[in-house]
Amino acid sequence: MSLEPCRETFTPKEKDGKISIRLLIYQPQAHWRVPFAYQRRHTLALPPFSTIIGLLCNVLGIRNLHGDGAPCQCDRCRQIWLKPETRDTKPKPADDINAVLYHELVNQLELSVAGTFASKTTEYTWFRNLNAKQHTSRFGSPTNRIIDFTAEHPGGQIPVSIDILNDVHLIIHIGSSANCLRFLKLIKYAICNDGRLEDVTSVLDKTEGCGQCGICQMTDGLKQQLEKQERLYPLHLGRAEDWVVFEDVRVVELGNKKASGRTGLFHWIPKTATKGHGAGLLYRVATFYSLNNGRRLFHFVNCFLNDGKINSRHWAAWYDDLTSCKAPSVQTFLERLDSLTTSNTRQLLRKFFPVFLTKTAF
Ligand SMILES: [Zn+2]
Ligand SMILES: [Zn+2]
Repeated sequence: MSLEPCRETFTPKEKDGKISIRLLIYQPQAHWRVPFAYQRRHTLALPPFSTIIGLLCNVLGIRNLHGDGAPCQCDRCRQIWLKPETRDTKPKPADDINAVLYHELVNQLELSVAGTFASKTTEYTWFRNLNAKQHTSRFGSPTNRIIDFTAEHPGGQIPVSIDILNDVHLIIHIGSSANCLRFLKLIKYAICNDGRLEDVTSVLDKTEGCGQCGICQMTDGLKQQLEKQERLYPLHLGRAEDWVVFEDVRVVELGNKKASGRTGLFHWIPKTATKGHGAGLLYRVATFYSLNNGRRLFHFVNCFLNDGKINSRHWAAWYDDLTSCKAPSVQTFLERLDSLTTSNTRQLLRKFFPVFLTKTAF
C-alpha cells in the first residue's frame, strides 16, 4: 500500500449528518464463496460483511483467543447469535486492548457495501489433500503412490471449478452506531498506516469521540498494544490471494438529501431498510461468528442483492456526494468505475450515492 497517512482534520458540517469512513478498493481478482458451494465454487457478487470484518480485525490486530473463543469474553461477544433478551445486559468489556477493540466492533460497527466487476471467469483446478484414508482408498496402501506405472500426488484429490471476479471495484462505508469519530479514525489509521501506527495516539487525542465507548475510555497504551500485534500480509478480501488495493480512505459525512436512479453497481440492501418493498434477490449475508469447539457459527443479516436501481422513496439510506472530493485518487477511481458500468442514457447516481449502513451484530 502506498497510501499517505491521512492527517486531515474533520468537523461534521450538518447537524443531522452521519460520519463514516469511505474505502475505495480495487481488487485484480476476487472470490467470495457462496456457503456450501463445493465442487462448483460459486462466488457472491459482493463481499459478505464477515469478509470485511475479517479484514478490519486483521488491520486492528484483533485475534481470537488461543484455543477457542472470541477476544472479549462478555456474553454478547462470545455468543452474538443469542437473542437480545438472553444476553448479559451489562457486559464488562475486558481491559485487554484486543478485547476492547473486538467488543467495540461488535457493539458499533455498521457496514455498507457496493461494487462491480469487469468480468467473471471460471478456473478449473484440482484441490488436493494429504488425507491418509483417501490415499489408501486410491493407492491401496500408505506406502504406494504409483497408479498405471505413474507416480501420482499422494492423498486425495477432486476437480473443482472456481468462479472468479476480475477487475473488482468496491465502495465500502464504515459507520459507528454511536457516531463515534474516534472509533472510525482508529480504523482508518489502522488501514492507512500500514501497521506502523506512528502517531495514532496523537491523532486520537485530537479527535473528539462519543466519550462513552471503550475506545474513548482507553487513555493510554493504545499505540504500544497495537504495535505488538502482527497483521497478515498481504491484505486481502476473500481468499488469501485476493489482494486489496486501497485507492482512497477518507472520513466523509453522509447526508439526507436523496435521489432515485441508477448507480450501475451492486449493493447489499438490508431487508429492514426497504420497508417491505423488494429490492432484489434475498441473501443471508454472514457477519460475525462465534467459535464453538473450533467451529465457526456465523450470524447473518438478511440483505437484498440489488443491481443498482435505487428507489429512494421507499428505502432508508444515507447519501454520500462522491463528486464533492476533488482528490485525484477519488476522481480516477470514479472514472474507471463509470467506464465499467453501462449507464445507457441515464446519469449515474454519484452526487447522491446511496449508503445502506447496517449494523453487523444485533
Ligand atoms: Zn464484549
Ligand atoms: Zn467513542
